[in-house]
Amino acid sequence: MPELVVTSAATIRDDGRTVITTRFSGIDLPTIWLALPEGAQPEQLSDTDLGNVSLGLGLLAAMHHGAELRVAHPVSARLLESVPEYQAILTTWYPDERQRVAVHAERVSTDAVRGAGEATFFTGGVDSFDTLLRNRSTITALVFVAGFDIPLDRPDAIERTRRHLRAVADATGTELLELETNLRTLFEGVGSWKRVTHGVALGTVALALAPLGFGTVRIASGKSYAQLTPWGSHPMTDQLWSTEGVRVVHDGADAPRSGKIARIAREPLVHQHLRVCWEQMERENCGHCVKCTRTRLFFELNGVGHLMATFPGTITLHRLLDEGFHDVNDVFNARLLAAALLREPRTRAYGAVLDERVRYIDRRHPDPAGTTLPPPDLRDRLALRLARRRARMLEQRQPLPHRPGA
Ligand SMILES: [Zn+2]
Repeated sequence: MPELVVTSAATIRDDGRTVITTRFSGIDLPTIWLALPEGAQPEQLSDTDLGNVSLGLGLLAAMHHGAELRVAHPVSARLLESVPEYQAILTTWYPDERQRVAVHAERVSTDAVRGAGEATFFTGGVDSFDTLLRNRSTITALVFVAGFDIPLDRPDAIERTRRHLRAVADATGTELLELETNLRTLFEGVGSWKRVTHGVALGTVALALAPLGFGTVRIASGKSYAQLTPWGSHPMTDQLWSTEGVRVVHDGADAPRSGKIARIAREPLVHQHLRVCWEQMERENCGHCVKCTRTRLFFELNGVGHLMATFPGTITLHRLLDEGFHDVNDVFNARLLAAALLREPRTRAYGAVLDERVRYIDRRHPDPAGTTLPPPDLRDRLALRLARRRARMLEQRQPLPHRPGA
């Protein structure tokens, strides 16, 4: 079995930021850097902290290449104890992509002290806002990582996001922790960001924040306990990145997106700063993609659609009928949304159109073989065209959001 050796060092970069640089030997992998929030100093990071980050960066690569992993630093005892469970879960989920490997550390460490700070990853989306608002009394910092959802070569998009996040941090009396990393260049070669690697990426950042005094780091859930399937960030795996010094919490899986929107719908900060449209790097929310449309309809259901300042134009249901039906999870979401829209007089007509589309898909694919729906045939395309025409007529006759008093 080949061996992958991981070494990390903390240094000060030209602009004064402290950076953790991680190098690999034994297998040809890119050097990874992680710039810590402003004010962090290299001497705050112990050799164990560097070891924990090294393990986070190296583990999936080792499992991908079938290599023994050797971390050239001490590693947290608790983290090392979680490694077999993490490997068991990943190899059960993806048996063809990954194998269990031996992991060695220079020594086992138990000396970390847990800081009083509590941070949460924050993108300005529904999940982030739900986690922030429910834990408002204990959260002291919001974490934004440039290089994760927004690539580093898009400073314009990073700046646009940063403006919203800073405003939310100011209004909630929290600190905005900005990090930067090229970590995706390593993880792209190791597995799908969504299905496999983004949870480890978040866990690794949590390990880097622990020495700065953050004893709890929250990761907002993307799916509820009723929808769980193998996924990069998951309640079973995220918590395994905890150490003696930091508790990593997968937060908010007790509610589907609709339930979270109901919980945050009355909060003015959400109306002013919600960002859900990551596909659109060019501007604020596009207002019309699947994610925007679904989100807007749920806010409309809660009676606040007209207050949502970050979505332009009116709601375009017809786009959802097409682009919102790629896999079984989409159908699950559409079914929930249609049922909710049907219950509310203001949105009932929209609910009827969406409900008909869900019923059509259910009839055509009662038991889809995989998670992705088969490509449409001629009959499907015809049905879709009719459904979209109905939706567009409805959008003209009865535009949403509904403006009270208009
Ligand atoms: Zn959009």
